[in-house]
Amino acid sequence: MPSALDILKEIFGYPDFRGQQAEVISHLACGGDCLVLMPTGGGKSLCYQIPALMRDGVAIVVSPLIALMQDQMAALHEIGVRAAVLNSSLSPQHIALVEQKLVAGEYDLLYVAPERLLTARFLNLIERVEIALFAIDEAHCVSQWGHDFRPEYIQLSVLHERFPKVPRIALTATADMDTRKEIIKRLGLDAAKIFVSSFDRPNIHYQIVDKTNGRVQLLDFIKTQHRNDAGIVYCLSRKKVEETAAWLVNQGLRAIAYHAGMSSQERNRNQEKFLREEGIIMVATVAFGMGIDKPDVRFVAHLDLPRSIEGYYQETGRAGRDGRMANAWMVYGFGDVVQQRRMISESETQYEFKQIAARKLEAMLLLCEATTCRRSHMLSYFGETVAAGVCGNCDVCLNPPQVWDATVEVQKALSCVYRTGQNFGAGHLIDVLRGNRTERIQQWHHDKISTFGIGKDLSESTWRAIFRQITVLDLLAADSESYGALRLTEHSRAVLKGNQRVHLRLQRKSVKAAHKHQNGNRIQLACAEHSLWEQLRVWRAKTAKEHGVPAYVIFHDATLQELVQLCPKTEDELRRVPGIGARKLDKYGNHLLAILRDN
Ligand code: ADP
Ligand code: ZN
Repeated sequence: MPSALDILKEIFGYPDFRGQQAEVISHLACGGDCLVLMPTGGGKSLCYQIPALMRDGVAIVVSPLIALMQDQMAALHEIGVRAAVLNSSLSPQHIALVEQKLVAGEYDLLYVAPERLLTARFLNLIERVEIALFAIDEAHCVSQWGHDFRPEYIQLSVLHERFPKVPRIALTATADMDTRKEIIKRLGLDAAKIFVSSFDRPNIHYQIVDKTNGRVQLLDFIKTQHRNDAGIVYCLSRKKVEETAAWLVNQGLRAIAYHAGMSSQERNRNQEKFLREEGIIMVATVAFGMGIDKPDVRFVAHLDLPRSIEGYYQETGRAGRDGRMANAWMVYGFGDVVQQRRMISESETQYEFKQIAARKLEAMLLLCEATTCRRSHMLSYFGETVAAGVCGNCDVCLNPPQVWDATVEVQKALSCVYRTGQNFGAGHLIDVLRGNRTERIQQWHHDKISTFGIGKDLSESTWRAIFRQITVLDLLAADSESYGALRLTEHSRAVLKGNQRVHLRLQRKSVKAAHKHQNGNRIQLACAEHSLWEQLRVWRAKTAKEHGVPAYVIFHDATLQELVQLCPKTEDELRRVPGIGARKLDKYGNHLLAILRDN
């Protein structure tokens, strides 16, 4: 058997393993089953690709995502590994050819969609083939509770029954305990060795800012921090997706849309564009993203509040798979709290489901209002023990919010709710507190009540932040009957009577500090380096186009960055750059040296 490390260096061009890769590979290569829980970008693919090359026979990889399979295959071809794909997008002739080559032992890896794998015909076919291993990617698709549920995945237990001697590896980036248990149960992996990595994504900077005008804030964020970068913008509704994409285009950005209401051709076209071209902004609902393994997504922005920390973590996790700096940025405001709570109370599901949804939302809201490190907050939500302290790469750590005693202001707000009959939303209440004689106020004679004008000293946006925070703290409830109307809760009384003090987060004035830090972390290239970087990118884009693959399949940004920094002048020096294996050196070495020597 060739050694795993030799394969890593020679074929993949990387100097050493990451995290638990070496242990997983050795266990699987020796014939053991494994369950691998690793965050996105952790390097799951190598965990089965290397054993596939170490063991005799072909590795069969089950994956639910056609686009992903194609890209993985293209990337393997680039480094000279014999791989193929079988899915419903191929012609019958093509399928017959792949099957023929499979039986003739001409592949190291075969990627198969689950529904195809499970046909009696295909299972019979692979009886005649030597199988190195089965890899079940995106294994959380067996979970009926998750939103990626695929019924066919449950039937994958048949693999173990029919091929008891073939080792299996199941992989997922879903962190929660329930999903983990379900995977083990459904796939019969009780005897498998479980490898759990930390779910921390240290290269992602988390930032949640107060929403004033979401779109404008987004534009400012992109313009100041992500000019020409690829990114994903998540919105709650299809309508908002379309409006936001159109608006960004109007502002001169390259934005496209994706949601479940579009035709499948249109969706595929946009997905392809996002994967293949550089610097595209995808505006989407959460329908977009599972299995998008584009490594150079530099930011994920949320214009609306996700329903749970699980969702937030998964969506933001699509940024920075290549390990380089990436931004998870979100705007969050009072409207989000009201809207999400209302959606839960109005949804027509069983009581238990509503309870679960409400709990998940509460956890998400607490993350938004957090006064301690966002990263620790999230990791401990997933049951990871984290060292107390600061991560140094989230907005809270970099710019700790001040907490103030807001008891008196909260009493004013609560009493204003009470005096106006618990029938009005935050906008009107703030007008009353600030003493604005609006038409509505005169109509209801709210300029005659005792709380009129008692909050003049604070700005409207400060009041909004107060109303938002006390609603999250359950001192106010947003009534689901009448839109946005706030009423008192069982907890309000203690505050009104002066028996409980309330501490709130001081509104963030600006995100400037985080900006500075971000820019500091981005690759700062000197002028000459910048020109080399651009030349390499142009060459890469041209080559990718000729080969019909995304640019990152040729070389990752991380590899280009190393080239710029090391500026190798000989083949030997080139060989030492991470991401350049034997095959790529062979194919592209001369082109790269020609560009590098000119500099
Ligand atoms: P996952 O499937 O866990 O999200 P991937 O397998 O796509 O992650 O790997 C993420 C990125 O990290 C890929 O670009 C891959 O080439 C790179 N990578 C994986 N393992 C290593 C390693 N040992 N050294 C350097 N880069 C690696
Ligand atoms: Zn932090």
